[in-house]
Amino acid sequence: MLGSLTQWYVRFPLGLAARFTLFVAALLLALTTAFVYVNNREAERAANTSFEEKAADLQALVRGLASDLSADLRLADLQSVLNRIAATNENTRYAYAVGMTADGRLAAGDPDSVLADPVASLALTDALSAGLPAFRRGDGLMHIAVPVKTGEQIIGMARVGISTAAVEETVSAAVSRNIIVAIGFIILALPLSAIFINYLTEPVRRLTLATRRLADGDFSIPVTEKRNDELGELSQSFAAMTRSIIDSFEAVQTLTLTDRVSGLPNREQMRRFTDAALGRDRKVALLCIDLDRLKRVNEALGIEIGDNAIIAVSERLKSLGLEQADRMEREALGQDSDVLLSRLGGDEFGFVLTGSGVTEEKTGEFAKVVLAAFARPFDAGGHAVSVTGSIGIALSPEDGADFGVLLRSAYNSLADAKSSGRNTYKFARRDVNSYAYRRLMVEQDLRQAVPKGELEVFYQPQVALTDGAVMGAEALLRWRHPSRGLVGPVDFLEIAEDIGLMDEIGDFVLRDVCRQAALWQARGLQPRIAVNVSASQCQRTDFAKHVLQIIADAKIPTSSIEIEITETVAMLDPRTTARELMPLRSAGVRLAIDDFGTGYSNLASLTRMPFNILKIDRSFVSECVRDGSARIVVAMLLGMTRELGFETVAEGVESSAQREFLLQQGCTYAQGFLFGKPMMASEFETFFAARRRSDARDLLQDVRFKTGA
Ligand code: C2E
Ligand code: CA
Ligand code: CA
Repeated sequence: MLGSLTQWYVRFPLGLAARFTLFVAALLLALTTAFVYVNNREAERAANTSFEEKAADLQALVRGLASDLSADLRLADLQSVLNRIAATNENTRYAYAVGMTADGRLAAGDPDSVLADPVASLALTDALSAGLPAFRRGDGLMHIAVPVKTGEQIIGMARVGISTAAVEETVSAAVSRNIIVAIGFIILALPLSAIFINYLTEPVRRLTLATRRLADGDFSIPVTEKRNDELGELSQSFAAMTRSIIDSFEAVQTLTLTDRVSGLPNREQMRRFTDAALGRDRKVALLCIDLDRLKRVNEALGIEIGDNAIIAVSERLKSLGLEQADRMEREALGQDSDVLLSRLGGDEFGFVLTGSGVTEEKTGEFAKVVLAAFARPFDAGGHAVSVTGSIGIALSPEDGADFGVLLRSAYNSLADAKSSGRNTYKFARRDVNSYAYRRLMVEQDLRQAVPKGELEVFYQPQVALTDGAVMGAEALLRWRHPSRGLVGPVDFLEIAEDIGLMDEIGDFVLRDVCRQAALWQARGLQPRIAVNVSASQCQRTDFAKHVLQIIADAKIPTSSIEIEITETVAMLDPRTTARELMPLRSAGVRLAIDDFGTGYSNLASLTRMPFNILKIDRSFVSECVRDGSARIVVAMLLGMTRELGFETVAEGVESSAQREFLLQQGCTYAQGFLFGKPMMASEFETFFAARRRSDARDLLQDVRFKTGA
């Protein structure tokens, strides 16, 4: 019972303060009830005592009457005294003396008074049997009977009836007074205790709030409670805990944002700094500094001296940066200028200048100051090291609107500076050859490429290694640019991914391939076409459904389409990939894992994926004849994939030596310039029609002829 009550109390959704107040209220109520009860009992007892006293008085009165008088006289005397009492005491309802016959009947007395005594006979019997004074309460009266004795013989009785109304009134007045006092006490005590409890639990509430904020990632340290109790202690340890969380957080931040050797910000911090400044519409100048001799210090004098040299260079550049920051602040008369020095790696450093004072002229002046600083040698652990530097500069917005583009522009101009004889600086070229310009143009044109129909799918044959029969092709995208001619996917797909065009382009490729496959089918040709899909495409939740819909729209068998996903993309989240691809495999679409060997997959997770085909990356194939370790890797890969039941496609086969080796190791298919370059659909149609399995011998002949085998 008590257990379940406590449980209920603990589970009840109330704050600590409310809970305490509830508890105190219950306690107060119990205490005041007890107080009222005890007080009331006290009042009642006082009332009873007053009756007892009256009875004792009466008894004394009876005893005080001369006992040698005759019974009649004594009773008459008694009656006259009682009459006087009745007259003076307004609470007396009756008062009489009565004589008794030997058989116990009333013999004499004031008849009016006797009639007013409702319990006369009863009281008589009580007194008679006991021979002692008797009381009885009832009908708003206290009835008192005192026997009048002569020796041991009862000769009569004095009877007095006193109204209890007055006493009851005083008792009930006392009771109500007690209750009023109790209520007043509760009314006063409850809010006071609530305030006090609130005061007590306030720090707990503050701590709770701070904990919640901490959980939400707000790392402001809570103000510690200045109290000398458990709460103060709790608050202090909480603040200490928060501080240690912040410290480790900052340690991680520092590790990921600073360069270990120089203690300077690293490239990542430089990126954040730059993008933050660009986000606030500040002008930004990026200076890439390359110190040519520094690398050789490592080689000649050892890593330790090399590190010392880097630290010495960092120190000198740091003070330059501070001077520059001062100057910019003075000249721009504003707070918005800022300078960041970072180590980009190796012997490369970078400066970012931001603020309204950043102009081409000022940046050029600063670059001169930096170069001049290299005139004096650096002290690297006792060795005087001389370095010369080259600087490449990029300015926003002309040379790029984000850090990535700005940095590439700066690197381009750095290469420029180096090639025009070191110890100099160069600005990014704002002409058609600059990276930023090229990228901008590509972005603009690319958005138009799909609607303008400039994208075209090429087909590179895939052949069976055993007999050279063409089985199908890999679809490879080309961009027929009006002025730049045929552009390969490497030059534009990354940009398409960056500007969110990849889904649209991917859809175009798949639809175009399906359309083409339907045409070929109508002409009795059934090549299997492999289509590449990018990360953003296959991460769509409805990817499988979408692909199946496009295949269904074209009315071609699912088995004529193969989907290629690179190993790296597939292994980003193997479980999800497996789940998303399963519907495709079940529907009969073939699945290939592309560029195998370049990622870090373990074969165990590979077996849990629904792939049918594994494409061995070109880098292994191209090395497999010359390089022993590549040979072993390819041999092992092919051995394992055979065990696991995969078909294999070797990519980039260029020589018949490679072909022989792959055939020996049990590779199933191959693709490469040896068999055919990516070609237009019409060319591939001719190629395929001529070299299907039935005509495969010719292809082998062809290959032998070409390679002179
Ligand atoms: P990939 O999937 O590894 O495609 C094979 C690449 O190797 C193709 O380059 C092909 O032309 C080239 N190649 C084939 N045989 C040989 C050879 O014997 N020697 C040499 N040196 N190269 C050979 P390509 O067409 O420039 O495509 C490059 C990459 O662009 C592809 O690599 C693929 O990842 C991507 N890509 C191409 N088309 C698409 C597409 O429609 N969608 C997506 N998402 N990616 C595509
Ligand atoms: Ca591919
Ligand atoms: Ca590939």
